[in-house]
Amino acid sequence: MKKLLSAIKNLVVGLFTTGKHLGRHAVTVQYPTEKWTMPERSRGIVVLLSDKETGELNCTVCMLCMRACPTAAIDIQYDKDEKGKRILKDFVVDHGLCCFCGLCEEACNFAALKMATKYEFSTLNKEDLVWHTDKLQEVGRDVPYEKPERKKPEAKAAAKPAVKAEAPTEPPKDTATAETAVNPGKPSEELKPLTEENKENPGEGN
Ligand code: SF4
Ligand code: SF4
Repeated sequence: MKKLLSAIKNLVVGLFTTGKHLGRHAVTVQYPTEKWTMPERSRGIVVLLSDKETGELNCTVCMLCMRACPTAAIDIQYDKDEKGKRILKDFVVDHGLCCFCGLCEEACNFAALKMATKYEFSTLNKEDLVWHTDKLQEVGRDVPYEKPERKKPEAKAAAKPAVKAEAPTEPPKDTATAETAVNPGKPSEELKPLTEENKENPGEGN
């Protein structure tokens, strides 16, 4: 009887919860007919950004993103011109290795690389996940991006609260001796040296 009442109670609670949601807006997205707009700072696919006027890549081949990548998903190949300036040969991102951590975007100082809010690139072929310069640039063409301004070192220093450096006026009063440290509850004068006698009867007093 008790079990039956409990089951009826659970059923009523469940129906009440269902009833509460009947008039509400549905949160399920009917993918692929409906698409979800990802939030601006979400980390989707890695793309390369170009100058809006010239159409050229913003990448300066500084290699910082490649060094920052923890999974070695980025491979940059370059040549050098007669002045020793690096000329980008190929920028490769293996999205099969990428863990979408965003460290490459963090490392780039030239607004040249971004994790776009795009996500429909699944494939049955692993090799299709390896993107070269052209594809990275093409997918990144319509990606809006402005590099957030970094604080200059002086501005950072000014923003820090001044630390008051005061020398201690008095030494601490309760300096623990070796004895009180071992027996914190007992005054030091009551402690006796450990002799052969009290070693055998440690609990006995005078
Ligand atoms: S998001 Fe992370 S793992 Fe992916 S390429 Fe950038 S640094 Fe590498
Ligand atoms: S950190 Fe930026 S500028 Fe440097 S190589 Fe990577 S994408 Fe290019």
